[in-house]
Amino acid sequence: MTNAWETIIGLEIHAQLSTESKIFCGCSTRFGDEPNSNTCPVCLGLPGALPVLNRRAVELGARAALSLGLHINEQSIFSRKNYFYPDLPKGYQISQFDKPFSANGELEIMTAERDEAGHPIEWVPKTIAITRLHLEEDAGKNVHEGLPDIDRYSYIDLNRAGTPLAEIVTEPDFRTAWEAYDYVNHVRRALQWVGASDADMEKGNLRCEANVSVRKIGEELGTKVELKNLNSVRFMHRAIEFEVRRQIGVLESGGRLQQETRLWDERAGETRVMRSKEEAHDYRYFPEPDLPPLIVSAEFVQGVRSDMPELPEARRRRFMEQYQLSFSDASQLTSERSLADYYEKAVETSGNPRTAANWIRSELLRELESAGLSASLSPVSAADLGAFIKLIDEGKISGKQGKDVLVEMFRTGKNAAAIIEEQGMAQLSDATEIESLIDQVLAANPQQLESYRAGKESLFGFFVGQVMKASQGKANPKVVNERLKTKLQAL
Ligand code: ADP
Ligand code: MG
Ligand code: ZN
Repeated sequence: MTNAWETIIGLEIHAQLSTESKIFCGCSTRFGDEPNSNTCPVCLGLPGALPVLNRRAVELGARAALSLGLHINEQSIFSRKNYFYPDLPKGYQISQFDKPFSANGELEIMTAERDEAGHPIEWVPKTIAITRLHLEEDAGKNVHEGLPDIDRYSYIDLNRAGTPLAEIVTEPDFRTAWEAYDYVNHVRRALQWVGASDADMEKGNLRCEANVSVRKIGEELGTKVELKNLNSVRFMHRAIEFEVRRQIGVLESGGRLQQETRLWDERAGETRVMRSKEEAHDYRYFPEPDLPPLIVSAEFVQGVRSDMPELPEARRRRFMEQYQLSFSDASQLTSERSLADYYEKAVETSGNPRTAANWIRSELLRELESAGLSASLSPVSAADLGAFIKLIDEGKISGKQGKDVLVEMFRTGKNAAAIIEEQGMAQLSDATEIESLIDQVLAANPQQLESYRAGKESLFGFFVGQVMKASQGKANPKVVNERLKTKLQAL
């Protein structure tokens, strides 16, 4: 066998921290305001204006780090990263360089190989080395309008300039596009979970760059290409797969790879050169003279930690233990904090963790998904779902009727009891009433009764069917079975 190609991926994530104001001034971070309305001398880079660090950005940066199990350095230094670009009026970005907020961490994620259709085959843990998590400011936005080369205008909107970011960089530890996919989902969920960031890739408040290279197993790392414009995890996955095939193609046909930045073009399904990295940037980093070192005390970290909710992985493990859920059930129910809260509330009201998990995973999530809603916006409240499950457990309606009732609850927002009442669906569980139906059926079928007593036990099912029919399908089958057995034995 010839030595196979191995894929090497390292990821850089920029997550916008959910502060109300910018990292070094008091301007609002609100999205969608009139261009350049949320600006001041500091974020416009006017001479003489001085930055002041936003405490909330540090808190949320700490939340982000802790949600990923990272250690926070007691002292970190802000540095100037110098480069010229129209959306960066100061001519430098305030970032962190040799003494970042957090460094040398490790993060365990769950990752799965997938089949052709992308369905996970088996989940396994994998540890990713986190090079660093540092705090920095975002740049503004260049907006282009009109046709290239004909009637083209470029505008600059500095509302985003100075928005706080956490940049999270990994070692080149990923070996497949799916591992990278599972990692980004892990980080995204963790940041959302603790409220550090909205982490929405489509809205651009979580941006991801993938560094990709290939090598023959056992050889040195190959030339890497940086992929940008990855606006969803799906896009990122496709872009990496494309890029790996492209690189192998170039190398196998005897070519050489350039270290460059390429953009993913989702429509064309390919990556395209954006800029060559040959003339490597020299950012001339130096410590920011206008900001003192950032000191984060153990007490501060403890305070942030004690304010945080139970983390997603811990909650998944607890769900598996406390509620006897499978890995797959528990993972899905902890995919979002609002869903996990919803589930636990439904368990509380129904007293039935197993059934609550089933109804949520099958029927409820399907309805939520097709309505494009998260659990926190569900028209069926968790308490109502719990009460609904209780009605099924008590035999008031059958599981089959339950499906219709739940759809109706979702559509109207009414609770289960009201719908059952309205539609006259209530299941008949009253033993006396069922016994009288049984008596009627036995009396109406003397021949079958004779055969049954002569030993034809298969007729039991026939009697059950007749009783169900006599009740117009409303009798509780469990009670019918029980009572019928007792009656026939007594005869
Ligand atoms: P740059 O200075 O070009 O940004 P860095 O060394 O800072 O490069 O690395 C940036 C990212 O690229 C990191 O996530 C790192 O793990 C990843 N990386 C570095 N070398 C490789 C490689 N040969 N193949 C894939 N990823 C790599
Ligand atoms: Mg880079
Ligand atoms: Zn400002």
